[in-house]
Amino acid sequence: MKKVAIFTSGGDAPGMNACIRAAVRGAIYHNVEIYGIYRGYDGMIEGDFEKLESRSVSNIIQKGGTILKSARSMEFKTPEGRKKAYEQLSKEGIEGIIAIGGDGTFTGAKIFFEEYGIPTVGAPGTIDNDLYGTDYTIGFDTAVNTALEAIDKIRDTADSHNRLFFIEVMGRDSGYIAIRSGIGGGAELVMVPETETSINEVISTLQEGWNRKKTSSIVVVAEGDEEGNAMEIAEKVKKQVHMKDIKVSILGHIQRGGTPSAQDRILASQLGLAALEGLLEGQKNVMVGIVNNEIVYTSFEDCISKTKELNQNLIRMVKILSV
Ligand code: ATP
Repeated sequence: MKKVAIFTSGGDAPGMNACIRAAVRGAIYHNVEIYGIYRGYDGMIEGDFEKLESRSVSNIIQKGGTILKSARSMEFKTPEGRKKAYEQLSKEGIEGIIAIGGDGTFTGAKIFFEEYGIPTVGAPGTIDNDLYGTDYTIGFDTAVNTALEAIDKIRDTADSHNRLFFIEVMGRDSGYIAIRSGIGGGAELVMVPETETSINEVISTLQEGWNRKKTSSIVVVAEGDEEGNAMEIAEKVKKQVHMKDIKVSILGHIQRGGTPSAQDRILASQLGLAALEGLLEGQKNVMVGIVNNEIVYTSFEDCISKTKELNQNLIRMVKILSV
């Protein structure tokens, strides 16, 4: 394999640049030409390619976002769109692809591989950490740290005013950011999509705390919780609890940005290089990940269809530590 391409797709995540840098420098080390595809699958369809050199990725390891830009492409979901993408890649002589993204990106990559057979290796780039086949995804650690910093700040005001705060963090289908930032931030309760927590349980947990003379309380809510978003949950609680100062804070997109943490930069560098070297060694239709400190390649099929279980011990720990 002498010519490969790399792109980022779906939601951006801090550390994607470090991953691109590692793949590019790895390609140069192995005497392979590497092209950057701009704006994910949209750029692939339009032939928005640029040859990357060692200096193209200078000074980006510490930057959030992605120098290759990202997009959500409707056209790639159609057979016609994918045909155009294949024609662009063939025209450029691309023999292998590195896709950095989440489960949507890998669903697209799997379909594309089945149709056209260009070897593709994925690298997990999503703040949600919801991908089977890797203990951690690129961007997750930074997002947790960002959420944690916000929780610490909110705790100051919660404490000064005897307030109850519901803090919503990202995680439509997964409670990873919520559980880790909640534990790190000393939350009274964490509500995640993986386990059901009824409004009555929320109230009884808070009540127990107040009975023990707690003056402020923090509940971290993953945006995809069964009981609704933080605003809806706060409204339900307000109906039953006679407490004036119930506040909601939605952290939103700040969790996606910012300079990547040391852990994310290192993880992204390991995965970027392993994606490139895996591709050169014949890996295809797989995502590279790190499980128990080992580089592993897991089929796109498994990454997309299998669920990475949230550690129930962490949920239990929140309950024990919040007394
Ligand atoms: P994140 O987890 O951060 O949201 P993601 O990779 O899951 O990242 P998506 O927007 O779901 O983000 O997917 C990225 C892109 O992958 C889509 O915009 C689309 O172009 C492509 N894609 C997703 N699903 C399919 C599919 N079924 N067929 C073809 N392409 C798809």
